[in-house]
Amino acid sequence: MSDDAQPILRLALPSPLRRLFDYRAPAGIAAARLQPGMRLRVPFGRREVIGVLVEKVAHSEVPADKLKAALELLDPRPPIPPALFRLCLWTAQYYQHSLGDTLSWALPVLLRQGEPAEARQERFWHLAEDARLDDPRLTRAPRQREALKALAQHPHGVPHALLSKLELNKDSLDLLREKGLVRIEVRRHAQTPPPTHWLAQPELPLNAEQRTALEAVRAGFGRFGAFLLAGVTGSGKTEVYLQLIRETLEAGKQALVLIPEINLGPQTLERFSRRFNARIALLHSAVNDRERLDAWLAARDGEADIVIGTRSALFTPLQRPGLIIVDEEHDASYKQQEGLRYHARDLALVRAQQEGMPIVLGSATPSLESLHNAHAGRYALLRLNHRAGGAQAPRFLRLDVKSRPLDSGISPPLQQAIAQTLAAGQQVLVFLNRRGFAPTLLCHDCGWVSGCSRCDARMTLHQRSNELRCHHCGHVERRPASCPQCGHVDLRPVGAGTERAEERLAILFPDHPVLRVDRDSTSRKDAMANLFATIQRGEPCILVGTQMLAKGHHFPRVTLVAILDADGGLFSADFRASERMAQLIVQVAGRAGRAEEPGRVIIQSHLADHPLLVQLTEQGYFAFAEQALAERRAAGLPPFAHLALLRAEAHKPGQAEGFLDDACGLAEQLLAEQRLYGVELLGPVPAPMERRAGRYRAQLLLQANARAPLHRVLGQLLPSLENLPGGRAVRWSLDVDPIDL
Ligand code: ADP
Ligand code: ZN
Ligand code: ZN
Repeated sequence: MSDDAQPILRLALPSPLRRLFDYRAPAGIAAARLQPGMRLRVPFGRREVIGVLVEKVAHSEVPADKLKAALELLDPRPPIPPALFRLCLWTAQYYQHSLGDTLSWALPVLLRQGEPAEARQERFWHLAEDARLDDPRLTRAPRQREALKALAQHPHGVPHALLSKLELNKDSLDLLREKGLVRIEVRRHAQTPPPTHWLAQPELPLNAEQRTALEAVRAGFGRFGAFLLAGVTGSGKTEVYLQLIRETLEAGKQALVLIPEINLGPQTLERFSRRFNARIALLHSAVNDRERLDAWLAARDGEADIVIGTRSALFTPLQRPGLIIVDEEHDASYKQQEGLRYHARDLALVRAQQEGMPIVLGSATPSLESLHNAHAGRYALLRLNHRAGGAQAPRFLRLDVKSRPLDSGISPPLQQAIAQTLAAGQQVLVFLNRRGFAPTLLCHDCGWVSGCSRCDARMTLHQRSNELRCHHCGHVERRPASCPQCGHVDLRPVGAGTERAEERLAILFPDHPVLRVDRDSTSRKDAMANLFATIQRGEPCILVGTQMLAKGHHFPRVTLVAILDADGGLFSADFRASERMAQLIVQVAGRAGRAEEPGRVIIQSHLADHPLLVQLTEQGYFAFAEQALAERRAAGLPPFAHLALLRAEAHKPGQAEGFLDDACGLAEQLLAEQRLYGVELLGPVPAPMERRAGRYRAQLLLQANARAPLHRVLGQLLPSLENLPGGRAVRWSLDVDPIDL
């Protein structure tokens, strides 16, 4: 029996399959009422899932008797605004990801679970209009009288959730309500009116460079335009953001600010909330699901003026989009490395274009991609070349540690420099991008090393916890007392991590506090805040840490920055390693001398005369970047080429490569059939670390000089990969524009 009058609903479901699923409208609901973006509960296999209506069509390929009806419509109106829906469609298409799964990543988890997509309703307790505190019925009920009096202190009512916090007795209030002295009103949750003055704090008068930058962006308000704000550390980029945001708010629009994960220190957030009276919605990993949905709804309904968050905040809908800022645009945390492998900075550009607003990408060390876009005229380049507020740029010293004795990674000249700085009453920052005590434990008798049983990697020694830990798969073992291979007890830590540097520095400088900042030391909730409090007090001390220390922080008393080991970035096989090293060095160096006293930076390296290092330290990041771009161009690497990486992993050796061989064959066939030129297939090859967490991994790289043919072939390749028989035993994923190979 066919039912031609009723259109078929095509839904995106939370499934990795790159297709939509067809259903009939739920019983009793006219299909005409259903609009794209609405959520429906549907039967899916043996489960029920929540899907999003994408379109209504006249016919389905599914036979009518197999077509199931949706069970329930969850929304009276589409919760996902059209602009966000369009962005998700673009994202799914570009990253070759299923739309349903894309929506799962993009939407707050409670929305995916079917929570109403309306601002939360809340009960407020109020005094009745005609209630009198001396009501005669209360003469013998002192507790009710107290409760009434207490409630009278709150002319706007008391939210139900706050009753106990305000020591309001619920039973008394119930009794008062029966007497008609108290009433309950249901209101939208936390609806605060927009402030009358946006500024809570006066603005700094901008210097000439800042003003030029501000005016360039402001002239572009109301339409798309991309700006690369390249300003040295401490040049006042944040001040420019703040003033642009104020202009945006004054224009009646909302601003979206993306910050890297690592910058979520209280310092950054405080700076925004101190400046503005605005309603700020925060979206980051520490926010719980309910808060996340509330923030999302507030932004969508125009009740948040500023949205600040990490990567996924990009998908926050804005009722009145005005401006996007991506701070530290070069930061790797903008790229999601699992599931939907999107780059929030790149998508932010797409979004700004789709919604017609300016976007500002800011960094002291712009990515080569963004610099290339600026050179090509796609972004307007705005430079801030001087530190604001008169602080001087730090001086660099490359310290050759070839054949020098290293004491837990610290050379004698560095020790002297640290001693000098402390003696002058200043602070020292020691940077080492390696957690733990030592990256390897070695048997001095037989040469056994602490390999991970599940990975092609060494286990790191963590002395404090007396453990060996694999930083790749999380595997943990107790530290062996003797060699597992020969039984001897002479096991020696090789190399130094932050724990070891900390221990050594504490012995070398017993009169000064040594504070370690890395993922191990800051896992406790307030650790970071306490640490910053100590640093801000300003007494001489030594900070030892990983890149958590590198970014965004303002440490006015730090005048010496020491980079213990710059060699990794010069040796690595990954073509982006030198770019990352340069960014890290400049960012860490930027912590030095941010106030009156000038700062210096000591870089220890076995390759102190390496041309890249020389150029970076003598001519600065931009000279380095031009050189690096020239090399990328010559080698045909991004941003002069476009990459997509197909990864596969399996429990048995050879399986992943077998699957990728088939994929490669399919891709070759597609390229030939369609006469697509300029797409190269490289591989399959074993991944750089072939075995990780017990799985064997391989990869196939697709490299193209233009995006169009690459995306054409990917668009057809992926659906067929879903059907490859070899695919059952492997886990595979596609990474478009991968940032690590
Ligand atoms: P960035 O974001 O580029 O690292 P910030 O905006 O944090 O730089 O500014 C660095 C320091 O300079 C801060 O202490 C800030 O208050 C100060 N500053 C910024 N702009 C000005 C200005 N126009 N006049 C005086 N001080 C400024
Ligand atoms: Zn041994
Ligand atoms: Zn491991």
